[in-house]
Amino acid sequence: MTVTMDTLVSLCKRRGFVFQSSEIYGGTGSCYDYGPLGVELKNNLKRLWWRDFVQNRPDMVGIDASILMHPMVWKASGHLENFTDPMVDCRECKLRFRADDVDTLAWTHYCEATKGNKFTIPAGEPCSHCGARRTLCPDCGKGELTPPRRFNLMFKTFMGPVEEEASVAYLRPETAQAMFVNFENVLQSMRLKLPFGIAQAGRSFRNEITPGNFIFRTREFEQMEIEYFVNPRDTVEGRPADEYWHDRWIADCMAWFRRYGLREENLRLREHDQSELSHYSKRTVDIDYRFPIGWSELMGIANRTDFDLKQHAKFSGKSLTYFDEERKEHIVPYVVEPASGVDRALLAFLADAYTEEEVRGEKRVVLRFHPELAPVKVAVLPLLKKRDEIVKAAHAIRATLAGEWRVVYDDTAAIGRLYRRQDEVGTPYCVTVDVQTVGDSDKGEVGDGKVTIRDRDSMGQARVPIEALTGVFRDLLSGGDWAKVASEFPAAK
Ligand SMILES: [Zn+2]
Ligand SMILES: [Zn+2]
Repeated sequence: MTVTMDTLVSLCKRRGFVFQSSEIYGGTGSCYDYGPLGVELKNNLKRLWWRDFVQNRPDMVGIDASILMHPMVWKASGHLENFTDPMVDCRECKLRFRADDVDTLAWTHYCEATKGNKFTIPAGEPCSHCGARRTLCPDCGKGELTPPRRFNLMFKTFMGPVEEEASVAYLRPETAQAMFVNFENVLQSMRLKLPFGIAQAGRSFRNEITPGNFIFRTREFEQMEIEYFVNPRDTVEGRPADEYWHDRWIADCMAWFRRYGLREENLRLREHDQSELSHYSKRTVDIDYRFPIGWSELMGIANRTDFDLKQHAKFSGKSLTYFDEERKEHIVPYVVEPASGVDRALLAFLADAYTEEEVRGEKRVVLRFHPELAPVKVAVLPLLKKRDEIVKAAHAIRATLAGEWRVVYDDTAAIGRLYRRQDEVGTPYCVTVDVQTVGDSDKGEVGDGKVTIRDRDSMGQARVPIEALTGVFRDLLSGGDWAKVASEFPAAK
């Protein structure tokens, strides 16, 4: 991994992928806005996930629940009680820190051994003059810190016009609970048989105290979650159904990330050990990715047993069971939860796609996105923008292709520059329209009606009749082989 976070952040801003939220006012803490290319990439990512895990599967359905849920949901789920971080406050400057973070920060020290001079001392180290260790606020160096207090990470708001305790509501900290509270609705309306899953992609909010690392950890983010319900009494291939399906989901999620371009050497599985497991989780496995900040969680796949359905049954007083026709009994399904973050996945795909190479003595930056992820699929470029016929033909091609894909037209630079620009945002194919395409009426020359397709990765070219373009791109953009197209439609010399 060579790309740094700074490189990605700067590319994202420069090329319209991701901007800091409310930047003209100095930014909103750890909130980001997706720009024109970012939103295309993000939509593609979510659409592929939905297509592969919902649309293509007979055992999956989706929902789209509201962000504001009944406050009892968070009581039942344990979030009110347990979704907390221990925090300490400085009594002087009022800054708040995560208790377990205080000693990972460089600290300010007014040293009595040097007449009270101010020093900034590296995290965890003592003062080299007096040997003192940090006891006060690491930031101001003056205030005492309070004992740790638990701080709930849910965003709190009020429903209705009165700001009182009875009208408190929370922005959901995860999408998962909506699948549990809708279990009965989905089961009955869709006549489902176990095993089946409910998927949802949507926003969640966590009032993180120390967010950061660009879009890796933000306070507002998007999740893609699946709750896959199984009958714990069933066995599959001689194993308990929940364990079998847990492994299946781990393998399917891993394969999905590989399929859309994450390299094997940047992916690994990490088994949670007993001390990390939530009390209700039977087993949790993370898919870690080698981000520019190091190995970190890309997604988690947990076996949550029957905890959630039982909790909601208890707090709502409604029965959340499944009738097992074979055994003639009501059971509470177990659930396997593959939970991933859209923003985090997007960051991984960006980092993995980023490459720098040298072409004829010049640096070329390429985002080697899988064509189905690429924000722009085709760029149509006129070779001469002063020739009306060329410009007209290029606009017409863009308009035709745009019925199926995100296609752009650009004539604001010379062709070499235009190619580089498209490489840098990962556009898999460029189409150039030239004099040969349209002919030269002054000289009485007739055009050949063909355009040049240029392949991002190989920089190879093919010469394709305009009327064949849609078919060729349908093939290429769904994973077709460039070499085949290049040999069928050879470029001149
Ligand atoms: Zn302080
Ligand atoms: Zn000192």
